[in-house]
Amino acid sequence: MNSTLFSGRQDLAVSPIAVDLHMHTGYSHGEADVETMYLAARSKGLTVIGFSEHSPRPDGFSYPSDYREKLAHGLPGYMREVRELAGRGAAQGVEVLLGIEADYIRGREEYTRDFLRARNFDYIVGGLHFQGAWGFDADQADWARLSRPERFKAYARYYDDLAAMCGSGLFHIAAHPDLIKIFSIGDFNAWLDTEEALPVLRRALGAMREAGVLLEISSAGLRKRCGEIYPGPRIMALAAELGLSVAFASDAHCPDTPAFAFAELARYAASFGYTYSCIPMGGGKVRRMPFSAPQP
Ligand SMILES: [Zn+2]
Ligand SMILES: [Zn+2]
Repeated sequence: MNSTLFSGRQDLAVSPIAVDLHMHTGYSHGEADVETMYLAARSKGLTVIGFSEHSPRPDGFSYPSDYREKLAHGLPGYMREVRELAGRGAAQGVEVLLGIEADYIRGREEYTRDFLRARNFDYIVGGLHFQGAWGFDADQADWARLSRPERFKAYARYYDDLAAMCGSGLFHIAAHPDLIKIFSIGDFNAWLDTEEALPVLRRALGAMREAGVLLEISSAGLRKRCGEIYPGPRIMALAAELGLSVAFASDAHCPDTPAFAFAELARYAASFGYTYSCIPMGGGKVRRMPFSAPQP
């Protein structure tokens, strides 16, 4: 969602990570068209550029700025444009992938399954943004109304849903795997210290490993209220301990943000022992993409 803060963060001209698998366009709430986002990504030196526009959602699951009708109407154009671009990109030595960020909505798996079965995407990013009909990453005011125990409940439910999302077999990548911290990072970290949190987290990341779902490391959190990479260090440590594979993402919604803070992401991932990220290749296979971790 939006509510983006400016960080003033300086990026290297050329990204030390060559692949960004999470970008949006004006077909949802992004600010630029497919071509403009492609050119912006290319100018960062990316050689694999994955678009992951939002998917249409079932009735009753909407954001004010990302309404269902627009996503449904725009989808054929989005798919056509990215496919055309892939042809041109190949001639320029850049691989363009057609992905989708499909919502995982508990109880509505059939809707998502039918949607994905009818279309041929290169990869599917699973985005967990809803608890029931509540889009929890849209509005800070929603969180201001919640007591601490209510927030703790939301965190635990998020990881229950993440486990179910990974177990659904619908997704290749788990997007922003602690997005639930977006408006309440202090309480979220306090929850991570509780006895109940670790088993819940382990179950979710265990389901991720079991299903071969990639853990997304996203710089979007740096641009949001929480001011921290998704996922935070404690979850990264657990992911590394479990041997999860990772994918990098900017979640760019404007031409300034493809490969955003990727030098920082590279250093962060390297500090947990990672030396490569992965690209889903279908049939449970991945392609490894080594990255370098530049000095600060
Ligand atoms: Zn998302
Ligand atoms: Zn996204």
